[in-house]
Amino acid sequence: MTTASSRRPRKPAARRRAATALRLLFVVSEVDPFSKTGGLADVASSLPKALAALGHDVRLVTPLYRAIHRARYGLRPTRLVFPVAVGALTYDVRVWESLLPGSPVRVYFVECPPLFDREGLYQLRGVDYPDNLERFSLLAQAALQLPQRLDWTPEILHAHDWQAALACAHLRYGARERLPAWRQAASVFTIHNLAYQGVFPASQWALTQLPPQALALEGLEFYSQLNCLKGGLMGAEALTTVSPTYAREIQTAAFGCGLEGVLQQRRGALTGILNGIDTAVWNPAQDPHLPARYTAAHLAGKAVCKQHLQHTLGLPVQRALVIGMIQRLVEQKGIEILLAALPALMALPLQLIILGSGEPRFHQSLQQHAKRYPGRLSVQLTFDEGLAHRIEAGADAFLMPSRFEPCGLNQMYSMRYGTVPIVKRVGGLADTVTNVSLRTRRAGTATGFVFTEHSAPALIRGVRRALAAYQHPSVWGGLVRAGMRRDCSWRQSAQAYAAVYAQARQPR
Ligand code: ADP
Repeated sequence: MTTASSRRPRKPAARRRAATALRLLFVVSEVDPFSKTGGLADVASSLPKALAALGHDVRLVTPLYRAIHRARYGLRPTRLVFPVAVGALTYDVRVWESLLPGSPVRVYFVECPPLFDREGLYQLRGVDYPDNLERFSLLAQAALQLPQRLDWTPEILHAHDWQAALACAHLRYGARERLPAWRQAASVFTIHNLAYQGVFPASQWALTQLPPQALALEGLEFYSQLNCLKGGLMGAEALTTVSPTYAREIQTAAFGCGLEGVLQQRRGALTGILNGIDTAVWNPAQDPHLPARYTAAHLAGKAVCKQHLQHTLGLPVQRALVIGMIQRLVEQKGIEILLAALPALMALPLQLIILGSGEPRFHQSLQQHAKRYPGRLSVQLTFDEGLAHRIEAGADAFLMPSRFEPCGLNQMYSMRYGTVPIVKRVGGLADTVTNVSLRTRRAGTATGFVFTEHSAPALIRGVRRALAAYQHPSVWGGLVRAGMRRDCSWRQSAQAYAAVYAQARQPR
């Protein structure tokens, strides 16, 4: 049989994909490499690139914060300047434009100096800015106005976390009628972390610019307050979160942060899709941050990275098991059980490196411990992207004792860098790390050490198991190689998002 496609000359790939390609607008409050406090920024950069590679026209809207270096990232001012009302005030915003490095993905930056020209993204020295509702209400509204002014009609609004959730609420409550560019669009809302909801007193309602009826049980009302994230949960056609296990967990009281009822109600619209990682940025064979590069077949460079890391952080250069940690220093990440476990851990033949910044109380106690254990514990209280890469490469193991973890990226970076994760069985950590057991070792699928209980003794047992395996180079080498072979790319997950977009566009 002769099929139509075998008779016609083959079209170029981009043309063939065009039939299913969508116009997507991401609204997101941080985007790597421009602005970053955590994993959201990584996903906001790597997912759009993966979607663009599938042929979609994906664009991003994000604030122009003070720290974004305009010249370094090639930002250009557009001619778009327009007013955005937030409560009693109206701000003139200017839009700047650039591309996600190494991609065709356009990023629009919303410039509004009174709201975004600040030292931090969301807070200063651990305290949230008091006008965050105003700031992100402006972002949501500017994002909705933009397509109109670009003469571009998105088919999907994809909003991320509470800072962008009001955009979904606006689409549900009248923006489709007001702004013709959105008339045919569906919205998708992704929960990257349910613990941050953007809850404000109901007296600040006017700042949302939403109609009064939206402050209701079926809308943004939450125990007599207004909850921005709930606006996303109730307003979007489809919901996603960043791992299948977290999608189940957040429907329970233990992880639902008070919104479990809403999530149960909307479970038919909720999909858990594992984050991928940017395998170009996180690639030990090409990483410009490293003193030496390596692959699974040629691991000599990893030993150089370890020595360099020990040397630069003032740790004795010896064959001890080096464990790395890189995280925001907040309760979510299990710092209390780490602190409780530290005396026992420091009695073991290992070195621990912690890179993080966050709550002042954790800074203080970690600093005190670092003084107590010189040569064994290195604490770096800063945000340093290059050092994060060097720790991923130079450490032997990577510890994540999170209380909860929607997905977690560092365990995937670790596996790709041949660094064996030691993680709590929760959220995305449970979905990405295969625990070492006799069966998984024989099958060659084991990639790390998973402990179940959220306690210091369980954490210590996890580390002891890793230490024991480290004494057997063939066992350890098997774990390193299995991790490096793991496909953590966006390939499958980007397709899963494309399926969600299609589902969101189905008539309801
Ligand atoms: P979360 O989004 O909850 O912070 P993830 O594991 O999803 O956790 O992502 C954290 C991201 O932020 C990773 O890319 C990690 O390397 C990075 N990161 C966190 N703290 C620091 C730090 N102090 N310095 C450099 N990178 C950091």
